[in-house]
Amino acid sequence: MKPRDEKNFELDEPAANNHTPPGWPLQTIEVVPNGKAPKKYGPSTYRFGAALTLSVILPRRGWTLVKKAKNYVYLTPPLNQPPPPFRISIAIPTPDECLELAQRSYVKGQSWIGQLGEWPAWYLHERNTDMQELWRDPITGQMLSRLHKNPPKSSLTIGEWGVWEANVTGVAGEFVHGVLPPSLVKASATSDGTYESALSEGASKTVELTVYERNATARELCLAHYGSTCQACGLNYEDKYGSLGADLIHVHHVTPLSAIGEAYQVNPIHDLIPLCATCHHVVHRRDPPYSVAEMKAAIASQSARNSALIE
Ligand SMILES: [Zn+2]
Ligand SMILES: [Zn+2]
Repeated sequence: MKPRDEKNFELDEPAANNHTPPGWPLQTIEVVPNGKAPKKYGPSTYRFGAALTLSVILPRRGWTLVKKAKNYVYLTPPLNQPPPPFRISIAIPTPDECLELAQRSYVKGQSWIGQLGEWPAWYLHERNTDMQELWRDPITGQMLSRLHKNPPKSSLTIGEWGVWEANVTGVAGEFVHGVLPPSLVKASATSDGTYESALSEGASKTVELTVYERNATARELCLAHYGSTCQACGLNYEDKYGSLGADLIHVHHVTPLSAIGEAYQVNPIHDLIPLCATCHHVVHRRDPPYSVAEMKAAIASQSARNSALIE
């Protein structure tokens, strides 16, 4: 398999792959389980969200990783651990350092995905955040649309929701903490009378907002994380077709576009997943789509059935 296109995601930061980066204070954070794991995994095994982070940082602290899925993980604490909520000590960047990190990345002008301290992190450079507004004309019933141009936004995410997470967003290199809302649609709608009457007659019924995430960056970060292998069936087009299939893969939106809220930013690891064309076709045979876990379970049970037939 061809190595990932690492040049595009080079992370030149002192905190890259350093568990205790200079200037990051050690802090005690609470790690709260969602509950106990099923009994077959043992009496003191807990279920956690934030599987990406906790499956790595807890085993470094003496925990046993029992089972890992995309959205949850089962872990057993070391002996003599006090009952939950569990507390761990971990290096966390200061709020100022988060802003400075984003500014340094902005100056370099490249998106990246990687690890800072013990946390997953990514920076999206100058995302296109134009919005396509769609609404149905209440008189003619026709769908109308209008494009709202927004300045490109850059954002830095460190950590994982459910454990610890920092988000920094900015326009033209000026960063603030949190997620910038898209510019208000109402403020930019002025000239068109039809449009305004549609809005005033119950915006929630007549107006649908669609955030177009047409910037290829989130897709690239997703592939940098997962590789271009189908996460349901394991097919890799380059393994099958050689160079003819290099980098060929679909990227599926796990979070449907219709469920996307106003301040939504694509998380390239949680919201996107590489699928081959066939698996992608199959997940969309249901609405909402089948999950990757359901796909894997279906493939496994069918292959068990097939091999039972052969024997
Ligand atoms: Zn597949
Ligand atoms: Zn899809």
